[in-house]
Amino acid sequence: MDLNAYESGGAPLLGEPLPIELANATYAVRGRLVDGLTTVEHAAAWLRDNRARFATALDDDALLALDEADLRAIRSLRDAARTLIDAAARGTDAPAEAVGELNRHVRRAPSWRELATGPGPATLTRSAAAPVPAALGEIAQATVDLVTGPERELLRACQAPGCVLHFLKNHPRREWSGPDCGNRARAARHYERTRQS
Ligand SMILES: [Zn+2]
Repeated sequence: MDLNAYESGGAPLLGEPLPIELANATYAVRGRLVDGLTTVEHAAAWLRDNRARFATALDDDALLALDEADLRAIRSLRDAARTLIDAAARGTDAPAEAVGELNRHVRRAPSWRELATGPGPATLTRSAAAPVPAALGEIAQATVDLVTGPERELLRACQAPGCVLHFLKNHPRREWSGPDCGNRARAARHYERTRQS
């Protein structure tokens, strides 16, 4: 089977930090919630499409061997990350259940950095876990840093009508998860104004 033939579950790829990108694998189409990770194929395609962003090497063989247990793991990590990022964006405390779930993923695949042989100074991230759990462990660790570090203040839940995505407000004027949301929000405001007058 060719990994490139795997179809994604339609989750948007917005170039957000990986924890937000994974959380956004729950998205909405015309106001209806869509789960973008319902099959092993969706999970493998999501990791394939993001693999250049991981320190863990995710080769085709590792992704083709992805199984139902990996699917359950990525789904539970996605749900925990989404809950924690949303709580941080709203300035509320993190629900204990999501904290416990996230920490399970962190502990499942401990990693360390080694010094690489040259040329030039570089590090290699290593883990005793298999590639897929190691990659999920990386996202879990990054989630811990995201919701406790300086970027916490920049986490936002998109306020466009019908959007459930989160984003990092990486620009002072950024208001939406993407340009489509800005256009939809402007159209809704315009409709509201013309209806009232
Ligand atoms: Zn949006």
